Amino acid sequence: MPAEEDARVRVAVVGAGPSGFYATDALLKAREDVLVDLLDRLPAPFGLVRYGVAPDHQKIKSVTALYARTASDPRVRFLGNVEVGRDLTVDDLRRHYHATVFAYGAPGDRRLGIPGEDLVGSLPATDFVAWYNGHPDYCDVDPPLDGETAVVIGVGNVAVDVARILAKSADELAASDIADHALAALRESKVRDVVMLGRRSPAEAKFTTKELREFGELENADVIVDPEDLVLARASQERIRENSTEQRNLEVMREFAERSPRPLERRLHLRFLYSPRAIESDAKGERVAALVVERNRIEEREDGSLAAVGTGATERWPAQLVLRSVGYHGSALAGVPFDERRGIIPNDHGRVLSAPGGERVPGWYTSGWIKRGPSGVIGTNKADAIETIARLLEDELPTPIDPRPEAIDGLLARRGVDVIDFESWRRIDRIELAAGQEHGRPRVKLVSRAEMLAAGGPELDEVTGLEDAEGDGA
Ligand code: NAP
Repeated sequence: MPAEEDARVRVAVVGAGPSGFYATDALLKAREDVLVDLLDRLPAPFGLVRYGVAPDHQKIKSVTALYARTASDPRVRFLGNVEVGRDLTVDDLRRHYHATVFAYGAPGDRRLGIPGEDLVGSLPATDFVAWYNGHPDYCDVDPPLDGETAVVIGVGNVAVDVARILAKSADELAASDIADHALAALRESKVRDVVMLGRRSPAEAKFTTKELREFGELENADVIVDPEDLVLARASQERIRENSTEQRNLEVMREFAERSPRPLERRLHLRFLYSPRAIESDAKGERVAALVVERNRIEEREDGSLAAVGTGATERWPAQLVLRSVGYHGSALAGVPFDERRGIIPNDHGRVLSAPGGERVPGWYTSGWIKRGPSGVIGTNKADAIETIARLLEDELPTPIDPRPEAIDGLLARRGVDVIDFESWRRIDRIELAAGQEHGRPRVKLVSRAEMLAAGGPELDEVTGLEDAEGDGA
């Protein structure tokens, strides 16, 4: 093997979403002699930008042009359709890389822990989002859209996204890259009232003002805010700083509350100070028929936070669809330390620890939502990745047994993995864009793995091209 290859630092980045790309970019900028393999279990790169960002927020998605530049650097290989934990173990990663950066996000949902949560018609917003964005694992979610009322629990930006998608007309959605199966289902939607539900008051809502404003611009839905809800408890009032998001949100909601009703097909209601207590079924005990909520008031806790406290007064709201949008939650990867409570990999500024407050695990790092939890916007992951990579660069890294790039290729070939590299992805991308152009849409997504692997094309064998690495890779 050429002598200069011995000197290069091999890094595996697990997860090709925003945090994986920012970590890769930070490595490339910091060291000339680095070779990064960017692994993703899906055939397509870009993680939450492709499968989380709302399809009608195309501008946000334009960040993928920067990621594509990173992936095109000769020191980077995108290895799509490779799942760590299935196709590669973390021991394989130790054997072949000096360092691994876990940046696989937080794809799971948090549960409410109330009766009826598993009825047909009650689903995590995370599933609904993955469904309308064409995530291969969520094509079959099939949310029931045959009822008149949908309740979205939570008032964060994900709740805003799913409420807006439910409220938009199919014609508005057709201008986006929403998955075809979702567009067809939403075209037939019978939903007329979408209720967004916050357990605290409007002053504590987590959504941002730009996203809130979009509710006022919907062609097909009137936004409804009860002026009573905007009368704040003193504790809430005292918290509002000038020029803060909270203040701006309140101004927008006041403007909504003052609007005269418009006779549109759908209504989007913002309700506050109610907690979900149970989801009730229909007479057959199968499908969602109502949400039982308890009225709350705001109370200041000893630690200074503002909590929703139940008043004991309950109400029953008929609803046929309940989307629980109360946050994402990370999941464990076999062999990697995990903090169940927080849903993150325990770490110290990105250095993986054996347990919360435990020992450092040499050569292992983490970045993004699986490092800090599901918070912040896409750009937040850039500073987060820079912090992690700064630690990696400071550390003495363990020496892997076989750092040759061909060794990992050999391993994947022997295991029969159809690797999608960045060129293969570009072929998929071109097919999607061409289909989009034909239909006057940004793109038409390929949604199944089989479709994507087929579109990734005939060069799959070349990508893995491995015979010569066989037998000496591990
Ligand atoms: P989030 O912002 O943390 O919002 C979660 C919501 O769930 C909060 O309103 C929270 O209320 C509520 N909640 C939690 N537990 C609850 C319970 N037991 N009962 C009732 N309500 C409960 O999370 P997210 O909306 O999933 O968003 C995740 C991150 O992605 C955020 O940083 C968000 O800004 C970002 N994101 C950004 C965009 C965008 O920029 N356009 C789009 C989507 C997501 P409390 O506040 O009372 O806990």
